[in-house]
Amino acid sequence: MIRGLETGNEGVRPMECEICGAEGAGYIVLVEGAKLTVCHDCSGAGKLLRAPQPVRDPSVQSARAGKVEMEVVDGFGAVIAAARKKMGLPLEVLAERINEKHSFLERVEHEKTLPDEKLAHKLEKELGIKLLQEVSSGTAVNVKDGQGKGMTLGDILEIQQKKKRE
Ligand SMILES: [Zn+2]
Repeated sequence: MIRGLETGNEGVRPMECEICGAEGAGYIVLVEGAKLTVCHDCSGAGKLLRAPQPVRDPSVQSARAGKVEMEVVDGFGAVIAAARKKMGLPLEVLAERINEKHSFLERVEHEKTLPDEKLAHKLEKELGIKLLQEVSSGTAVNVKDGQGKGMTLGDILEIQQKKKRE
């Protein structure tokens, strides 16, 4: 093999361990005052200054970006209240049935608190209503005209998140 023909990238060799010569050295260690680039096996030879950065798996991030999230529907308080009254269930009884505090449920019904997914599921089951809808992450869903004064679900969520921080 004639070495000269395959170069063109002179000086850009794969990193070799300066102790044993193995390829793929990514560790920098301090040995007797000298910085050496070494392989994993030799990284214990001196004081470790730098270890190779773990390679991030891009597939993990892309899987997350496509995740579908569940959001509570607009006007959820009215939906809950209407279904509860239709069934003739006092708030206290409903709260007991789903194992939640009466005062907390009251706040949810007045839309002062956003039910989490778990609570929403319990209410859906107990009252036979639909409280959760699928929302693709990063997509604002327009609320029907006449409801929510033209606010998008994104606006509402932002307000609710601000409230939470207070
Ligand atoms: Zn080595």
